[in-house]
Amino acid sequence: MTTTHAFWLAGREATGEATFDVTNSFDGRLVGKVSVPTEAQVEEAVAAAHAVVDEFAATPAHVRAAALDHVSKRLAERTEEIALVISAENGKPIKWARGEVGRAVSVFRFAAEEARRWNAGEAQRLDTEAGGAGRLALTRRIPKGVVLGIAPFNFPLNLSAHKVAPAIAVGAPIILKPAPSTPISSLILGELLAETDLPAGSWSILTVPNDRMPALVQDERLPVISFTGSDKVGYAIQQSVPHKHCTLELGGNAAAVVLPDWSSEEDLDWAASRIATFSNYQGGQSCISVQRVIVDSSVHDRLLPKIVAAVEAQVTGDPSDAATDVGPLVDEAAAQRVESWVDEAVAAGAKLLVGGKREGATYAPTVLTELPADVTLARSEVFGPVLTIAVVDGEAEAFAAVNDSDFGLQAGVFTHDLQAAFRAHRALEVGGVIVGDVPSYRADQMPYGGAKRSGVGREGVKYAMDDYTYERVLVLTGL
Ligand code: NAD
Repeated sequence: MTTTHAFWLAGREATGEATFDVTNSFDGRLVGKVSVPTEAQVEEAVAAAHAVVDEFAATPAHVRAAALDHVSKRLAERTEEIALVISAENGKPIKWARGEVGRAVSVFRFAAEEARRWNAGEAQRLDTEAGGAGRLALTRRIPKGVVLGIAPFNFPLNLSAHKVAPAIAVGAPIILKPAPSTPISSLILGELLAETDLPAGSWSILTVPNDRMPALVQDERLPVISFTGSDKVGYAIQQSVPHKHCTLELGGNAAAVVLPDWSSEEDLDWAASRIATFSNYQGGQSCISVQRVIVDSSVHDRLLPKIVAAVEAQVTGDPSDAATDVGPLVDEAAAQRVESWVDEAVAAGAKLLVGGKREGATYAPTVLTELPADVTLARSEVFGPVLTIAVVDGEAEAFAAVNDSDFGLQAGVFTHDLQAAFRAHRALEVGGVIVGDVPSYRADQMPYGGAKRSGVGREGVKYAMDDYTYERVLVLTGL
């Protein structure tokens, strides 16, 4: 019998009238049925969250920290079970799914640590100017109100964790809306939250269909929207509620630059291996997947065969198999879209070195060179296992090529030259520059987010806590 997963309404399990199916894109099997909240149930969750704003903000930090520690510990205990769910609902190879659970364990632990440090505020003397004599300013950060967290399919647990954990850390109620293709791991997160003493209204996990989301986005009781997903949906949300605080974590077409000094055999082997792995992990469905390699002409001829060999060595197949590196995309339509973009590029003159084949929802790891500038693949986020390689002469040309994009999430720069690293940090229009590695490196405590069309605001637990709160100053007079 197929399980029907309940959603979470103000801290308790609930079911609605309708359900939808979650399927495995590798073999088409049904992973589970998920209950859809009715409009009345959504209203109940929003009202409950709104009602506990003050109570939750006043919850002692040790209580919130203890709840976060509990979730972290329980996620660790249930790693294997949750990894299997992520792999089944998302098509993610099991080894990457285990890694994702490990990251969520860390996110909740970081949030517990930050909750304990949080909100001491600061004192500022105001008597530096004549009118301020006898005055003192004290600051503290106040939650802006209920957070509406909207998560994407590609890291269904960890990107939900990045919405929920910082909200609990600051004492802001949260309503989480997981992606429709991958909601089950987030619903399991609800089981762990339900084991804590958090106020009932302080959290809900609602599997609301996309066509009913605009009403939730518009609801004035939800002043903060934390969205991770495509730029199309993200900017539409922001434009529909310009007065709200919107954190937008959007897409990218991340580049890895290889500078002339990165030239020993060992250097090139490392770069090729990292590039091949991180253009393909999760079928390239990461916002910081390596999509573009920009390599100096002095090392290109030696690096190219190594990249091709490393991409050919990627094992494609069943995501539940421990040996699999590359599983299917989220659905067959996504693989067909990637196929059509590669076909368009090849028809326009791009050279296909590896891959270019599709089987159902699985697209083979693909490498292209000589990409014409005006094809879709050159300008857009492919979100598939496709790598393009461009040759440049010198650092200035390499950095200009990175910046020749509407997006700017992260960039990788392979160099040993510290001065070049600082120049990259200054010149590249991205939220993060990773030196000596691919752009796909992310540590969950560091600030993470985009420049240009890759979004606004930052995640990374402490930075999301800043985004969810505002500074309120208290001025004392007559001291
Ligand atoms: P998506 O934009 O299709 O969906 C994201 C979420 O928005 C889902 O939960 C979806 O149900 C919801 N949604 C859809 N329509 C909505 C509407 N009208 N109002 C409110 N919510 C709505 O994105 P996706 O396909 O799930 O994720 C892939 C995208 O996410 C890629 O572009 C990827 O680069 C991006 N991403 C960015 C980051 C980051 O941190 N910058 C991380 C992961 C993924």
